[in-house]
Amino acid sequence: MLRTRLLYCTLWTSGPDPAQDGLVRLCVAREDGSIELDRYCAPFPGAPASWGCAERLRRDFGLEPEELAQAADPARAWDELARFAQGATLLVADLEGFESWRAHFSAGDARLADALGLCEIAALFLPGRWSARRDELVPLLLSGEPLARPRAFGPAELARAFEELLGRVRGQPEGTRRIAREGYARAAAGLRESDALLARRLELALALVGAAEGARVSPEELIEELEPRCAKEGERWAELTPLPPARSGPLPFPDEDFERLDRIFEAHLPQRFARENPGVPASYRAGQHQVAREVARTLAQEELLLVHAPTGTGKTLSYLVPLLLWARRHEVRTGIATFTRALQEQAYDRELPRALAALAEEGIPGGLRVSLLKGRENYLCWRALRLALPVDEEDGPAWLAWTQLALFALGDLEGDLDRLPLRPPLPSEASALLFTAASELRRAVRAQAACCTQREDKRTCAAGLARARAERSHLVIVNQAFALAVPEFCRHVVFDECEHLHDQAHNACSKSLSLRTARAVLARLSQPGKPASRAVLDRLARLLPGMTSSERTLAQCRHTLQKASGALELLARAAQAFLDWRELEEATLASYVERPEAESLVGARLEFGAQLRGLEQDLAELSARLSAPPTRAFSQPRRQLDLAAVELAALSAALEAWMPLDEERPSFRPNTFYDVERDARGDLVLASRVLLPNEFLGRSYYPTLANAVFVSATTWIAGGFEAARGYLGLDRAAEPASDEERSGMHVRTFRASDPFDYARVLVAVPTDAPSAAQDSKAAFLDYVRRFVAHLGERTRGRMLVLFTNALDARRVGEELGGFFRARRIPLWFQNQEGTVKEELSDLFRARVDSVLLGVDTFWYGADFPGETLEYLVIVKLPYGVPDRYHEAQCAALGASEQRKRIYMPRALAKFRQGFGRLMRRENDRGVVFVLDARLLQPRQRPFLRELPIENPVETLRDPAAGSNRARFVRGESERCLREAFEHMGLGEDLRRRGLSWSFAEELA
Ligand code: SF4
Repeated sequence: MLRTRLLYCTLWTSGPDPAQDGLVRLCVAREDGSIELDRYCAPFPGAPASWGCAERLRRDFGLEPEELAQAADPARAWDELARFAQGATLLVADLEGFESWRAHFSAGDARLADALGLCEIAALFLPGRWSARRDELVPLLLSGEPLARPRAFGPAELARAFEELLGRVRGQPEGTRRIAREGYARAAAGLRESDALLARRLELALALVGAAEGARVSPEELIEELEPRCAKEGERWAELTPLPPARSGPLPFPDEDFERLDRIFEAHLPQRFARENPGVPASYRAGQHQVAREVARTLAQEELLLVHAPTGTGKTLSYLVPLLLWARRHEVRTGIATFTRALQEQAYDRELPRALAALAEEGIPGGLRVSLLKGRENYLCWRALRLALPVDEEDGPAWLAWTQLALFALGDLEGDLDRLPLRPPLPSEASALLFTAASELRRAVRAQAACCTQREDKRTCAAGLARARAERSHLVIVNQAFALAVPEFCRHVVFDECEHLHDQAHNACSKSLSLRTARAVLARLSQPGKPASRAVLDRLARLLPGMTSSERTLAQCRHTLQKASGALELLARAAQAFLDWRELEEATLASYVERPEAESLVGARLEFGAQLRGLEQDLAELSARLSAPPTRAFSQPRRQLDLAAVELAALSAALEAWMPLDEERPSFRPNTFYDVERDARGDLVLASRVLLPNEFLGRSYYPTLANAVFVSATTWIAGGFEAARGYLGLDRAAEPASDEERSGMHVRTFRASDPFDYARVLVAVPTDAPSAAQDSKAAFLDYVRRFVAHLGERTRGRMLVLFTNALDARRVGEELGGFFRARRIPLWFQNQEGTVKEELSDLFRARVDSVLLGVDTFWYGADFPGETLEYLVIVKLPYGVPDRYHEAQCAALGASEQRKRIYMPRALAKFRQGFGRLMRRENDRGVVFVLDARLLQPRQRPFLRELPIENPVETLRDPAAGSNRARFVRGESERCLREAFEHMGLGEDLRRRGLSWSFAEELA
């Protein structure tokens, strides 16, 4: 019997990292609720004033540092816990966090090993979107009892949350509970040798939720009787009629709906905001309301609307409300196309419920249907999951990954794989192994394009069901890549963060073949020389008896595979020869293939293409042979063969696009750029890229739409809409080229007023920073390092540093690691070992006093309101790298036209987006440093004009003109920093901490 004495234990800490944070309170209660141990601790040695965590203590726990001055020593308190809890099972909120403190206080001490976390139990038994919200789990489970302070809960709240969780787990259908029991029991058995602690915790978890007992049934039998939850949901949706993506002729937005819309923005939304933010008065957002009215006008016409909605407008609600009203009235499908899948989820999870609640207050009846739709490969294939049951009874990591995924499918309404984190559900020493098992499984169970012919399987296909749901919805949230790939699906669309459409169109119309990926695809089929290889052809070679027709087809597959691998290496050598030749003589791929020395490249391309096609056919034949008669042992290899065929087809298509043929000779198209490139790791990539994505948008894509809205905070750049119109191809949509046979589309623009008072911001440009040019880069990066160190120590972090180059961010980050560690200020940077990009935002947001060095994505969607980000450092002006593609565009358009239509709009929009990271809410404030002194040069004035800074001449003429603009300082670093500290009122704090104001000292 594993179940022992259960204790509820809560830890209060000044932050999550024991290397930099301290223990504040430790509290333990028995199951009957009696408190057995309660120790407040002084988190750090020395006087409370030197701890640097006063605000966190107040905000998270309502504690003043002085209250802890005489409190217990954390190490002694921990030892008391270890002695008291010996032999008991400890239930904590988050086992991963608890483990880092256990390792800190008692590394190697086995006491307290019998611990489990609420988050981990939820991740094991109720995996998915809800349980992934780790930090919010206790308040979520205690619904209706919001915690006054976010982390200040004790054992009593933890116990109630656990009871609620148990109720939910035990309330699951019988089949689901049995899958959990059988799958996790096998995982535990398989892990016992390699990771005894993880195995024991799995068993503890099973015992704790009461899933350990009962008659044993094999998961193989169980899973055949079950269906994913999305299938039931699909039946409900199937009863509804699909909505058309458009109806003929303009559909009005009637006055009655305008009146509703006005009431929603003037009354319902402000009141709702006030309810959600106690103490904050209801505030009406004029810009949001204006944009909503403009969107409504456009929906009633055949036109394209380009909107500038500055940060703080609340743009998502401004288009959601009119879209929903209009779609419901006319029973038509509308779409929102966001930049990324994460933004899709954000709009769906956070903003849509607000919009629907506001509409409900207007009496908009039920029956309004909304959905989220992604590409097929984001959804779970139930058929594949059944086939992916681990073959080896003892493969613990595989059973753990499979069981969690099966439970996810059985409980989730949509089967959207993004909703299930890849991280292992329990902390483990061998987490890399678990992660690999989960990733491999994830790849195997992704839905593919038209991969199933069986009607019964289609009933449970999450991808097909998501599509069916979307077809029946009034509003579908897709991403831009999907909207471009399936243009007929949404014909009334709002493109959010529309500046990305240019690059998305580039991606949609371009193809690339990475030779490294091609090698990996072939290696997944067979790995000669590895006796225990899990590659599908190798496994089949071990499974198939000799001299059968299947065995002969298998031999043919291996033979063709060998030839394809040889052809790939020939192609790699020929492509390298092209690059070597181009070192000596500037030329394009198109001109090179006319030369005699290019014969080997053309020949290799032909040969590799032929072998890929041959291999595809051989695999299809093998798959067909294995299915007659159907044998369970071959089900999984067949699925792998089918997936391999899909990958081979993608390679063939990319190869064909890279060098199209006409009668076996290259035949390049004029609007495409063809080249051999290198990826970030230096591997060769065969690329074919659309030359002018904006032309594709204006000529081919927009004319398929009935109407559309393009929204962003950076459509008004360089003093007008002209740059964005050109960059997004709207001018081409309005004025067809001479070779087009269509009439121009009507394009309208609207600029919403800026809601922010930028007087709360100081913009500073140090004039003594070394040049960021290549020849002085080392000195520049050294300056950046010293600047970030000096500033970050004095401000205690709260700083985002935006780089244009990932290697630079990494280098500065690595050099600063020790400096900030010594000051207990967490520092993160992109590509930092042990972190994944997607987690960095959460880490930075969770720790107010921290520093984050980021590149690309952090210039755009990152949202860090309040104290988390008060100091923004823009390291360099975000000019693009003028590569060969850029040169090809210049050759096609003319250099100045390319600069005007593509190069500058992209750079200016990125700069403006980067600047926009600082002010996210009306009462935010802070300082923006631009360390690239080129900003002050006359040639770079367009960048300066993008900033909402005071203009001394204008302000002199009209003092009111500069009243809501940021103060602008240019001068030596010393002066810029001094002004920044004064602007933020840091003087007293710096004096108290004995920190010098002088940057010159830092230079010494
Ligand atoms: S259609 Fe494809 S993704 Fe869907 S169930 Fe069938 S095999 Fe799986």
